[in-house]
Amino acid sequence: MENKVIVNEVQVNGNKLICDFRAYGEIEKCFLKNEFEVEYDFDLTDIPKSILVIPLLGDILPLVWLYKAEIVAEEIDADFLEEIGKAEDGFREMYPMLSFGGKITARAVKSTSVSKERKVGCFFSGGVDAFTTLYSHLEEKPLLITIWGSDIKLDDIDGWGNVEHHVKKTAKDFGLSYTRIKSDFRGLINEKVANRKVRISGDGWWHGFSCGMGLICHAAVIAYKYSLKNVYIASSFPAYLKGQYTCGSDPVIDNNIKYARCSTVHDGYEMDRQQKVRYILEKSEHYGIKPHLRVCWESRGGKNCGHCEKCYRTILEIVSENGDPNQYGFNWNEDSIKRCEEDFRKKIDLSEKRIQWSYESIIKSFNNHYNGDKNAYSWMLGDNLIVMNKTILKQFKRTIVYRGLRKALRIVRNYI
Ligand SMILES: [Zn+2]
Repeated sequence: MENKVIVNEVQVNGNKLICDFRAYGEIEKCFLKNEFEVEYDFDLTDIPKSILVIPLLGDILPLVWLYKAEIVAEEIDADFLEEIGKAEDGFREMYPMLSFGGKITARAVKSTSVSKERKVGCFFSGGVDAFTTLYSHLEEKPLLITIWGSDIKLDDIDGWGNVEHHVKKTAKDFGLSYTRIKSDFRGLINEKVANRKVRISGDGWWHGFSCGMGLICHAAVIAYKYSLKNVYIASSFPAYLKGQYTCGSDPVIDNNIKYARCSTVHDGYEMDRQQKVRYILEKSEHYGIKPHLRVCWESRGGKNCGHCEKCYRTILEIVSENGDPNQYGFNWNEDSIKRCEEDFRKKIDLSEKRIQWSYESIIKSFNNHYNGDKNAYSWMLGDNLIVMNKTILKQFKRTIVYRGLRKALRIVRNYI
């Protein structure tokens, strides 16, 4: 059967948006359900269907292109329809090993609700990338946009509470407004099936294909409501690594997503993470506000665990620029430095790329900028991290035998 996705109904119930769709053909197996729900913190009654359908499209269009399927909707915003083919070209450029195609069948509708005052919006998760973008555009007074259902799962209520508190505090500190989205978009697609479909790319579904469009398209409704002219989404990779990485959020994709006369800007691409940390430290001195950086991927609860690779990396980035991690959302003292060294020696396994793309900049910064006692950090300077990564224990941990044993233990533990 021909691959097809039909959007049957786009409904609004107060603040809630519900899209009903049906998939046919091979693509059908990619979906876990046929209903997509998003909740905003304002009434959606006056938002046209041509805009309301965009969050769903953002989630499923990359799949539609990969399956060369047809997607049918009653109406779609004209700006979105005009530009989105360029985002598809962006995927083509990033993944030459895959083929893309398919078509969108819908009536194009021009967005008319645009007030004279045009503001900007900024996706805000509270990490290093997000704060860099916030500081870069502070004078434009951006509306902060945060999604519950992306890195914080919908059942992590405490986690979301902490994240929301953090964003509200940031908005208050900087005199900004804030809006939130609650979306079940990560529960819509069977990521195992999607991962298999894109395996040849070397990347996974979420990171490689969905983390840009999937998020950005949620803001179409907000852009219409608040007449936004730009929505900024912070870069994760720097421009100088172009061609060496793959990611679903990239200028070649993000910058081609438009809706309701609003453009998306993939922001901060000119800086790498170490430069961003340096920039945050400078700006926080300038404004007299030390932001708590929320960077952890390991902990539920929306806080920094303080001892995973990402937390340590951020702490070391701050220290190497002579910043105090205690002022930026971490606990850091002499004992923590010792624990960090121990964890890097025994537990944390760094890929060659991670060392090359992140830790080389940290070490360079330690050598060039750090004014404190370098002895406390000598264990990670020079080639020490590379040597640490080659110990017999770490090499064993990378083997299939070890991974199999861990998996078996997990199954036994769950069974007991
Ligand atoms: Zn952590």
